[in-house]
Amino acid sequence: MTDAIDPTDAPTPRRKPKQPKTSLGGHTLKPSTQMMGYGFDPALSEGSLKSPIFLTSTFAFESAAAGKRHFEGITGKRPGGAEGLVYSRFNAPNQEILEDRLAIWDGAEEALSFSSGMTAIAILMLAACKAGDVIVHSGPLYAASEGFVAKTMAKYGVTYVDFPAGATREELDAVMAKAKAQAEAQGGEVPLIYLESPGNPTNALVDIEAVRGARDAHFDADACPIAIDNTFLGPLWQRPLDHGADLVVYSLTKYVGGHSDLVAGSVSGKKRFIDAIRALRNTMGGIADPNTAWMLCRSLETVELRMQRAGENAQKVCEFLSQHPKVEGLGYLGMIKDARQQDIYDRHCLGAGSTFSVFIKGGEAECFRFLDALKIAKLAVSLGGTETLASHPAAMTHLSVPQERKDALGITDNLVRISIGIEDANDLIADFEQALEHV
Ligand SMILES: *Cc1c(COP(=O)(O)O)cnc(C)c1O
Repeated sequence: MTDAIDPTDAPTPRRKPKQPKTSLGGHTLKPSTQMMGYGFDPALSEGSLKSPIFLTSTFAFESAAAGKRHFEGITGKRPGGAEGLVYSRFNAPNQEILEDRLAIWDGAEEALSFSSGMTAIAILMLAACKAGDVIVHSGPLYAASEGFVAKTMAKYGVTYVDFPAGATREELDAVMAKAKAQAEAQGGEVPLIYLESPGNPTNALVDIEAVRGARDAHFDADACPIAIDNTFLGPLWQRPLDHGADLVVYSLTKYVGGHSDLVAGSVSGKKRFIDAIRALRNTMGGIADPNTAWMLCRSLETVELRMQRAGENAQKVCEFLSQHPKVEGLGYLGMIKDARQQDIYDRHCLGAGSTFSVFIKGGEAECFRFLDALKIAKLAVSLGGTETLASHPAAMTHLSVPQERKDALGITDNLVRISIGIEDANDLIADFEQALEHV
């Protein structure tokens, strides 16, 4: 880097305000406390207690030398990333505040925001892979994620090996060996292990710790990150970085946004993996917009309160449903029947969440009568909002999934998926009780 300017010539970067302390004396502050101010200094914005929304496409440099230095960071010519604000496709204040706060929840080195969960997932995969490579992934995945691997990545010569959520260490060793052989035959590598846990809509859990063990036994940990879609349980009820994952992916549209009023996504984790994803996001775009980033900072202030309440509600509702004569069973993480799944839950999860499946006695017709009779719960896909939602995966989100795959995943015609919100639990129970009378 012969033409790099002397860093001492550059003005002091003002991008990051002085960070509030993350500890007080010997006491480490909890994320719920830090959400009220971390990463934002009112003194830089006229004393405004809340961050303004920075509606600008570009940022004025303090000097030409500062502009050059910032571009060295953006282009990767100088390690360490951007030191200043440059252009809103790369970085901007609302997004940086959001990203700093998301990283706190996950215990991550860094986080990136995206315009949707699917943008985050697509850019993560494109950044990791080249022609000939093989992605190892758990199943089931969110339908669009599964389609992106199987159809879009396939167009660029990337294939996959999948394994069922719940696979044991021995099974995972066989999966890794198969993927390695497949990659060698294609002249590629295995650059990404992609997980989703719990799976949608069955709530099947992946043993992240076992995947980590199998990855370490078969591949170079620095060249084959484990990424996991933590949308259903994160950031509160599952902390995948503590269990050996390297990257955590979210559809922020769900619990984190939490009000069913925005679409966004994120990836957080180890800096060395985040840097490659950021570089592709810089090129392609796909960063969250400033308004959405601001709304998400608003949402992060209450994410713990909302998720706790929704989790308590879900437990009460499931206790009611599990006793009901018209209910055949539940796919709820608070009432796991399988010993292997319970063991994974006990090691990985801090709460059972508020999204689950109910198996109604009957089939599609009985489910539709139940859904059409609901008065408080709304009939809609999506999850993690303040309001309770109900849907029929086989006829809606998973309509395009071939029948044999549906059978293998347990997506039956009598499955209703419910995402419990923060209403009064007894009101929700009364609603489900009257709707079940229509079955
Ligand atoms: C909704 C969802 C996605 C996609 O997120 P968008 O924000 O809709 O793009 C990915 N994974 C899971 C588990 C989801 O629920």
